[in-house]
Amino acid sequence: MRHILPVTFAVERFITLPSYIDDVPAKLQREAETLYVMTRIYCSAKHSPDSGLCDTCDGLMKYAVGKLARCPLINDKPDCKSCTIHCYRATHREQVCTIMRYAGPRMLVLHPVRALRHLMKTRRSRKGDAERAE
Ligand SMILES: [Zn+2]
Repeated sequence: MRHILPVTFAVERFITLPSYIDDVPAKLQREAETLYVMTRIYCSAKHSPDSGLCDTCDGLMKYAVGKLARCPLINDKPDCKSCTIHCYRATHREQVCTIMRYAGPRMLVLHPVRALRHLMKTRRSRKGDAERAE
């Protein structure tokens, strides 16, 4: 079992990662961790599970991590939001969007380092898309 400290100047507790995150290739580990951290923010606010994630969010997380683990674009992966392969089922996609919308702004407060890193990566891949399109 691995633990991550989601923020560098930490007031935050360690988050215990579920073992299925280890199925994700090393290159995409950080993305899977961010997804998990964001889902935790959403779930603890909306569903108040005793620990970790509630069953629904855990199921969604397993699904999303499973998709990430089999991502065919691993070597040149855009962020999921601007990806052209729509690998999520529509309902799951909607649920993940809801979580991202809720947790995104809160990440800046709760996990600023992780959030900034994610934002920079997102901007980089958008820029890459624009350059490829030219
Ligand atoms: Zn939940």
